[in-house]
Amino acid sequence: MSARATELDRDDPLAEHRKRFVGAESALVYFDGNSLGRPLAVTAEGLGRFVEQEWGQRLIRGWDEQWYDLPLTLGDRIGRAVLGADAGQCFVGDSTTVMLYKLARAAVDAQAGRDPRRTEIVVDRHDFPTDRYVVEAIAAERGLEVRWIETELDLGITPELLSANVSESTALVLVSQVSYRSAHLVDAAELARITHEAGGLLMLDLSHAVGVVPVELDAWQVDLAAGCSYKYLNGGPGSPAFGYVATRHQATLEQPVHGWMGHADPFLMGPDYQPSAGIRRFISGTPPILAMQPVADMVSLIEEVGIEEIRAKSVALTGFAVEVCEEILAPLGVVLISAREPAGRGGHITLSHPHMRAVNAALWQQDVIPDYRDPDGLRIGLSPLSTSFEEVRRGLEAVRDTLLAIDSDSATGG
Ligand SMILES: *Cc1c(COP(=O)(O)O)cnc(C)c1O
Repeated sequence: MSARATELDRDDPLAEHRKRFVGAESALVYFDGNSLGRPLAVTAEGLGRFVEQEWGQRLIRGWDEQWYDLPLTLGDRIGRAVLGADAGQCFVGDSTTVMLYKLARAAVDAQAGRDPRRTEIVVDRHDFPTDRYVVEAIAAERGLEVRWIETELDLGITPELLSANVSESTALVLVSQVSYRSAHLVDAAELARITHEAGGLLMLDLSHAVGVVPVELDAWQVDLAAGCSYKYLNGGPGSPAFGYVATRHQATLEQPVHGWMGHADPFLMGPDYQPSAGIRRFISGTPPILAMQPVADMVSLIEEVGIEEIRAKSVALTGFAVEVCEEILAPLGVVLISAREPAGRGGHITLSHPHMRAVNAALWQQDVIPDYRDPDGLRIGLSPLSTSFEEVRRGLEAVRDTLLAIDSDSATGG
């Protein structure tokens, strides 16, 4: 297996990019790129330069020179590089939670204005907590109902499940393209078709998808989307979210957090709020310019490499992890929760065993860093540009050794 990992690394056309990430060539095994990506080395220099030059010397003039437009220009770059979105539909700012709230509330209000019988927000019972909480809060605030899709704990939304849950009452459907728990990858084009046939709007949460699986928001006719920039876009802890609103909806959607930066004429400082034309109306207050710098660095690297190439490496990495798991972990009772077929999974895989909570804690002590999700799930997140096949092998062998140690401890009553 060691020879096979070496061979895969040798033949990997993207292997050279690893050394661009801080710490990627250290002995630490990092399986959490789906949660917080590693920093790029250029980001360390770029942030220093930003403080010294742009902030330090341009000072407030920086707003006129480029910061005022950065949420939109960076949004356009993200749209082109990884979202399949034409210019003028994406922007950066807020946390993903706040972004989900603003866009979902704008969508349900527009739907209610069109047809007051559109009272349901449809969402996966096992979606990421923030998505569920936001939807419940909007429903309570606007007198709507949440319609929960009862997915299997470790699966995601299928066309059949969605069809059974949309109707003439559907206002909005919120779906994670890649499920955070199982990595289940939905057929978003088909879900958009089903949602539209019922008269609803489809909003995608792309947090676990962006930068690792190809996304084609325009071609799939998705209505709205939001996602994180600190996972596979390596923006760093708390880097801002991106949002997408299809051009056809921009004039009719009014987001609830009115602020001066989304005003038609912000420097008029006028008495009334007048939303800007176009995507700018979805911005609220002063955007986090500093926190956008690392995201821009990673987008540059993705532009250079190409998302199709990144997906190919991702499929190879998760495929190798599945192979190793079958050989050395399945005999110990470990079960693969994620799809065996690459087309059915995103950039991570989840392994299940009753001892995984303890395994995860023990692995962190040895500088092997996956994460644990209840119940019994060990998530192995493989960031394609910073992870090697050798790292996957070492990490999964550590999982095996740790499981064996815990099993023999419990066998001897230790
Ligand atoms: C990571 C993640 C979030 C995180 O939201 P924050 O506001 O950035 O904390 C939201 N939704 C999904 C599906 C995620 O995977």
